[in-house]
Formats: sequence, structure tokens, C-alpha cells
Amino acid sequence: MVESPSPVRADPSQCNEFPEGQGSETVEGYYQPAEIERVVQKLEHTGQGVTTDVIGTSNQGRPIYSVRVGSGAKVVFLQAGIHANEPTGTIALVNVLNSLSDSSRRSQQIREAVTIVAVPQLNPDGAIPYQRENHQTWDDTVSMFPQLAGAPSAFYHSLPGPRFWSDPRVPGFDLNRDFNPDFDYAPQAGHLPGSGSVRGMYLTPEARASRDLYTALEQEFGLVDVFVDLHNQAPCNTFDDGDAHTPDLHTPMSISAQFLRDPGSHGAGTMYPNFGWDASRRANVAAWEGVQRGGSTFSGVTRYPQNLNLAGSANATYQLRGSASVLMEAGRQRHANPQWRHGFIAKVHELAMMGIIDSLVDNTFEDIDPNRYEEIPVRNG
Ligand SMILES: [Zn+2]
Repeated sequence: MVESPSPVRADPSQCNEFPEGQGSETVEGYYQPAEIERVVQKLEHTGQGVTTDVIGTSNQGRPIYSVRVGSGAKVVFLQAGIHANEPTGTIALVNVLNSLSDSSRRSQQIREAVTIVAVPQLNPDGAIPYQRENHQTWDDTVSMFPQLAGAPSAFYHSLPGPRFWSDPRVPGFDLNRDFNPDFDYAPQAGHLPGSGSVRGMYLTPEARASRDLYTALEQEFGLVDVFVDLHNQAPCNTFDDGDAHTPDLHTPMSISAQFLRDPGSHGAGTMYPNFGWDASRRANVAAWEGVQRGGSTFSGVTRYPQNLNLAGSANATYQLRGSASVLMEAGRQRHANPQWRHGFIAKVHELAMMGIIDSLVDNTFEDIDPNRYEEIPVRNG
């Protein structure tokens, strides 16, 4: 006999972006690092000028790939899998790359107008145990940076032990707290353990790989026009049947341009004169429209809660450097969900990315009133 689920209100304190329970669950349906390698190799052989690169090596020695499509003057940097238990962004990014490298007239137009640079899986080591963090001990870190010996570990490093969103056996860093807009920053013991409101320290090879790619793009293009980071958020304000057979009633996606409570105190407008606030708001509006245009079945796209203060996030860092910076938090995923559900969640990510890309290609981006960002309803909870 099957017990009927007893709906419970999701705990608002858990209304964050940790979409899963502990790690070590089945990962069927999600890209593993070896599959990403095959995908990347296949893309390179499309004959549409797609190039690929290894931008760095994870702490456990896995290659981190980038894929480049198009040769236009505007550059869009798309990143997925920074939190490895939030994997639908990787699926969406692979789908977008496959689409943009086909032989259609529209894809050709896009390739002429923009350069898309994508990192489909920034955290391959975390994808193995299916956890938020990378796989890196504090001892690994001190051997990389001997000046940190004897200092407390970084607040964003987790030791082995039960954690809500990760494999209890695998220590590692939340890569999305490891960024710093000072690309020359070198870790200092006196800055440990740090906190969420101060910048990260580039203690992980994965964050450094993303930074190095961004640096190269800045040198080539002057400014990286758009940066998008793909995540999944947990359910909230919805009923959780504990079994995930009920379609997720949560908003299909929340997006954001807001990452710092006081950008000026982080050098926005001074040290970082290109701080991309209005550009970020325009890009969010373009993503919002991209999801909901043309008879779309998606509705209810919301703004992620607008009180973030994540100075060490990739989004905050690249926004300070001048990019239109977009956080995309698609709905949750659970392994028990039927396959169509995976497709649904990936699709909302794809539509949002294409909304931005299309507005750049069609030259409507600059005409977007950034104040329309404030019309996107804030996620309730
Ligand atoms: Zn995340």
C-alpha cells in the first residue's frame, strides 16, 4: 500500500537554493564529467567554428572545459555547475550550445553578432558525489598556500560531516564564495576565516579557472558584456510531498541583478567604474521576457530575494568588473521526478539565456528600460 503524502509547508528557513538532501544519490539524467568531455569534443566537430579549451584543472585533477561559439563583437559568458548538485544549468547550456552550433540561418546570425563563451561544468569534482562544494581538504589548501598554515579555515570550507546539501564524506569549498574582483588578490592568513559579506580568496582552482577565463575575455574584448550563472533553488511557498511526484508549484525560475547591499563600499563607481547595475537590470528584463514570450507555458518568473550580500560570488565579482550580471535560479530537481520534469527545468534556463542573446543580436538590449527590472515580482519568501 502506498501511503498518501502528507503535504507540509516547506520550512521558510530552508527556502534557499539547496535543492537536494545529502549527496551520494543517483545521478542518472545528469551530466557526469566524462560525458561533458564527450559533449565538448562533439561540439568541436560541428563545422560551425566552435572551439573548445581547458581553462583549468579541478582540485582532483579533472579538466574544466570551455566552449566558444560565434565571433561577434559582444561577448556573453555563460557558466553552469558551480554548485554541482544544481545540475540542470549544465543540461540547458549543452542544449543551447548544440542549438547555436547548428546550420540554421538564425544560429548563423547569432554567431556573427555575439561570441558565446560557456563553461558547462565548473565543478566537476562536486558532480561525482553530487554535492554543492568542490572536493578539497583544508590541508590541500595550505599546501597550495603555505602562508595560511596555522590560520583558521575559510568560512566557506566544509569539513566532512553531515550537511544538508552535500555528501557528508567529502570536504570542500562553496566555490560561489571564493571570488574577488581584485584578480591579483593573493590569500592572506589575516583574512581568514572571512565571511559572506567580504570577498573570497581564490583558494580553489575552479574559481581561479573562471577568473582566468574572464580575465582573458576582458583583455580580448575590453569588457565582458554579459555574465550568467546558472543555479537551482529549493522549493518554498509550496507543498512538499516529500516524494516529489507532485509537480513543483514553486516559481519556475527566480532571477537577480542584486548581489551586494552596498556596492559602493566594494568599489562600485570608484575602483570599479564599469559596475554593471543598469546593464544587469536590462539583462534580467531580457531573460524575463525570453522566458515568457510567445505563448510560453511558463509564468510566474520572479526576482530572487533582493537582500543578497554575497561579495564572494561570481555574480557580484563580475558585475563589479562591468558585466551585466544575471543569477538564474531555476526550480528544483529531484531524482524521483519523471524525465519530463528535467526537461521542463532545463527549458526555462534555455529560454532565459536566449532572451538575453536575442536582445543583443537584435540590438534591442540597450533600449530596455532598466527600471522595468523593478516590475518583476519578488519571490514570495
Ligand atoms: Zn547554487
